[in-house]
Amino acid sequence: MAPSSINSPLYPSFARVPLHFERGEGVRVWTNEGDEYLDFAAGIAVNALGHCHPKLIEALTEQAQTLWHVSNLFESPQQEKLARRLCENTFADRVFFTNSGTESMECAFKTARRYHYENGAPERVNIITFSGAFHGRSLAAITAGGNEKYMTGFGPATGGFVHLPFGDHEALKAAVDETTAAILIEPIQGEGGIRTVPHQCLRGLREMCDEHGILLIYDEVQCGAARTGKFFAHQWIEGAEPDIMAVAKGIGGGFPMGACLASEKVGTAMGPGTHGTTYGGNPLAMAVGNAVLDVVLEDGFMQSVQDKGIIFKQKLAALADSYPDLIEGVRGDGLIQGFKCRATNLDVVAAFREQNLLSVPAGDNVVRLMPPLIVSEDELSEAVDKMDAALSAMSSANLAKAG
Ligand SMILES: *Cc1c(COP(=O)(O)O)cnc(C)c1O
Repeated sequence: MAPSSINSPLYPSFARVPLHFERGEGVRVWTNEGDEYLDFAAGIAVNALGHCHPKLIEALTEQAQTLWHVSNLFESPQQEKLARRLCENTFADRVFFTNSGTESMECAFKTARRYHYENGAPERVNIITFSGAFHGRSLAAITAGGNEKYMTGFGPATGGFVHLPFGDHEALKAAVDETTAAILIEPIQGEGGIRTVPHQCLRGLREMCDEHGILLIYDEVQCGAARTGKFFAHQWIEGAEPDIMAVAKGIGGGFPMGACLASEKVGTAMGPGTHGTTYGGNPLAMAVGNAVLDVVLEDGFMQSVQDKGIIFKQKLAALADSYPDLIEGVRGDGLIQGFKCRATNLDVVAAFREQNLLSVPAGDNVVRLMPPLIVSEDELSEAVDKMDAALSAMSSANLAKAG
């Protein structure tokens, strides 16, 4: 098959795998050639309820027959409803709806700065971020992420971000000063390789922010929306609530939707005219977002994610033990798991794909495994069998090479 970038009118900015998926249902997708795959990529943790969930189809088609768009010039009972539910289940009191994770982050950056501006500290503009972070692909977001690979060729980094090594407490203490507006962190780094921030570190960040009068921002775009078996990953930890949180991906279940959540005192700093969006919070998105919450907030749903996460992790750990030459270990919580590889992660992803299992590469030589949250135990076992077959094939190929 020819690489899809040749003879394509599309920007060649994605290194696309030459597979063309036509249809999906639950945790499975089918190509135009009729080949079936188990989808443990889930659109990079987007398809939280799998493909074509009946409740999402119903919500979207019903809304599509009623009202698509009126703009934020008018009241939105659909936004109010979803925002109220998000607030009832988190630290937040105020919500701004967006269309993507990047836009949720942008709103978070602006909110942090504006909060200090409104509170007589306009010099507090800098946001501290950490290596391995990923916050999106706008000019501000690539600067926040600090990954050179994403910044090369795009001119000067935007001002206002201070980038520190992950886990370096001394560097952090030294970096906080009177220009600091906020500290930004993913409670579990997704793109960076499923790196969980230790619980005491998030608590420490909270204390530090309180001590200096600065804001704590979480990026839960990837690790949130019930992926760890709590609504948001930081909710496993007491005393570590943020002031601002960006969400997207799973919260829309496949509809492009995100949100920036904030506490009362922080969110209300964004008065009339301070920010805007044409599509953010559009009725179609809100209908789907509310339907996602109907399922995710149902009694027992989070518990089922926790239970399946434990089973999945045990199976992955056993597999890692069987192939120590290829897999170094397992990382993650709930249904956001990763293999830290000894083999090249891209080769492992390709080997899984050969067994009709989709996964996602990440930084730090990790393979991400993020099935839809509705995955069954049988489907987890099926995926693990495919991984076993793939690793076994890689292992014998390695032996043959060595022999
Ligand atoms: C995907 C992601 C983003 C960016 O979201 P987009 O919807 O692609 O703009 C930001 N932060 C994290 C942690 C992500 O995983």
